[in-house]
Amino acid sequence: MTSPQILSDFLEMVATPSHSRDERALADLFMSKLLGLGLDLEIGEDGAGGLVGGNTGNVVARWPGEPWAEPILFSAHLDRVANPGNIVAIVDEGGDRVVSDGRTILGADDASGLAAILDGLRRARDGGFPHGDVELAITVAEEVGLKGSRCLNYGRLRSRVGFVLDSSGPVGSIVNRAPTQKTVEAVIRGRSSHAGMAPEEGINAIRVAAMALSRLPEGRLSPITTSNFGVIEGGKATNIVCDLVRLRGEARSHDQGELEAYVGLVGQEFGRAALEAGATASLDWELEYEAFHVKEDERAVALASRGLKGLGLEPRTVTGGGGMDAKHFNAHGIRSVGLSTGYKFVHTEKEEQSISELVLCGRAVAEIIKAAAIR
Ligand SMILES: [Zn+2]
Repeated sequence: MTSPQILSDFLEMVATPSHSRDERALADLFMSKLLGLGLDLEIGEDGAGGLVGGNTGNVVARWPGEPWAEPILFSAHLDRVANPGNIVAIVDEGGDRVVSDGRTILGADDASGLAAILDGLRRARDGGFPHGDVELAITVAEEVGLKGSRCLNYGRLRSRVGFVLDSSGPVGSIVNRAPTQKTVEAVIRGRSSHAGMAPEEGINAIRVAAMALSRLPEGRLSPITTSNFGVIEGGKATNIVCDLVRLRGEARSHDQGELEAYVGLVGQEFGRAALEAGATASLDWELEYEAFHVKEDERAVALASRGLKGLGLEPRTVTGGGGMDAKHFNAHGIRSVGLSTGYKFVHTEKEEQSISELVLCGRAVAEIIKAAAIR
């Protein structure tokens, strides 16, 4: 039942170091595997590397097909969350899974997506069924804020539907919506003073930050809105009243109005706490990415569903909480959904990949290619 080729591709890619902005080795390996399929491909690398401060661009490829059939896009990303680069994968055939040796992440996010795309193309090649153009956008710097897909050259792509193979859980899930995310940097300026000699002359920026945070709701603000302040920096010594604190936080919501209401509240509470203490607070919000919602009756969901049903699976649409390249594809008119590839415990040392789900995922890619050429 296992497909040795997709598993060995997966293992080889996991063993190849990859980091955000340093995806060179894995990009080269992926491209050589892609070319090794012997398809009549157009393949290139864009200039995203320079734009994101890295050494590798997005890999963009096209397998030309029947001109009457609909072109479709598949995507996965090359980089991984922070890791020491020497990932050791352990295949547990009996347990139907691949895990790391427990010291690092596994990197199934997103080697599973890369391997599934290769496998799907291989199956489509061997299946000999008619297909339209199959385009690939293999991105860099995804884990540091979807930076590669942000600067992808969308003018080169013909597809109006896309499938991003980068989601946890068993194959069959279609991620058809995800929230807007904003990040904030808050800077609080108080006044430094000697804490023992003249504490009354100081204004403690740490206290101002604490005051503001303690008055703000945080975490799950509603079923569709979350927030977190995750980084705080400031202070020099215990005997100096702290004059400068920087905080970084984020908020995500499926509703623009709820998100903006929270952004407003953060500004209000930081302003109030600063005013009370005689400090100043400045907030700099940045829009990381916009929400998307690909409706159930849209083509991308229909094609994914048809492909998954072709494998006897029951497709289900789910909401994604995190960032994914599909956000930028959707913002550029390529109606895109995420597809689960069968990994779990992502971004942790416990990360694992189901082998049977990996095989299913490669088959799903081929089925979607087939489905897109059925009228
Ligand atoms: Zn990912």
